[in-house]
Amino acid sequence: MFIIFGTRGLKHTVSDSPVLSNSCPNCNNGSLVNKLYRRWFTLFFIPVIPLDTVDRFYECDSCKSAYNESIKTILQRSKEEINENQKRATSIYAKALIAAMTHMAIIDEDFAPEEEREIKDAIEGFQEMKEELLAIHENVKVNANMNNQVFDFLNSARNELSSEALINILAQAAVVLLADGTIEKEEENLMKEYLIACGLPKEMYQTLIDKLKQKDMTTLKKEQMN
Ligand SMILES: [Zn+2]
Repeated sequence: MFIIFGTRGLKHTVSDSPVLSNSCPNCNNGSLVNKLYRRWFTLFFIPVIPLDTVDRFYECDSCKSAYNESIKTILQRSKEEINENQKRATSIYAKALIAAMTHMAIIDEDFAPEEEREIKDAIEGFQEMKEELLAIHENVKVNANMNNQVFDFLNSARNELSSEALINILAQAAVVLLADGTIEKEEENLMKEYLIACGLPKEMYQTLIDKLKQKDMTTLKKEQMN
């Protein structure tokens, strides 16, 4: 009888290392499981003694792509970057929104309580930057577009946000314009200036107003039905 011995690599799951859920860069939904290859001393082809750890890596449980362990840091960093960008975009969005809404509310020299309520409601939607937004609101209320401040906010929004986000800002400003029931000429002109500042055609004005009026009607109807 002779003894056959040798070594063999075996793949193990590292049980105490958290799975990186749904983060496979290749298939986008697979989860990355930390694995290690360990070389074993084998006797008759059966692993009996674990030798050194040969390699640690992440393997996708779906498409089986393998990644160097540094993928964990890369994924975490890009998640942080995404969060950072989102925070920045939200801040630009909120500032442009509150500045434009406030400006729109004061342009006819009659700051109606309905308008103030719309703006305060909008500020409530951004709890983390409430103080900053209230300060912008007060400032625009007193100084209007002094030093072009309102259009500066809109400009940074135009540079950093999608046109969908810009239209959202203008639609909310248009809600203010409609809040007191009448549309003054100053309000209409200002809304057109906003559209141009945002790189949108000023003909969009009518579409925007019509859409909002329609929406108002449906909300009203729903309220009446309930
Ligand atoms: Zn995958």
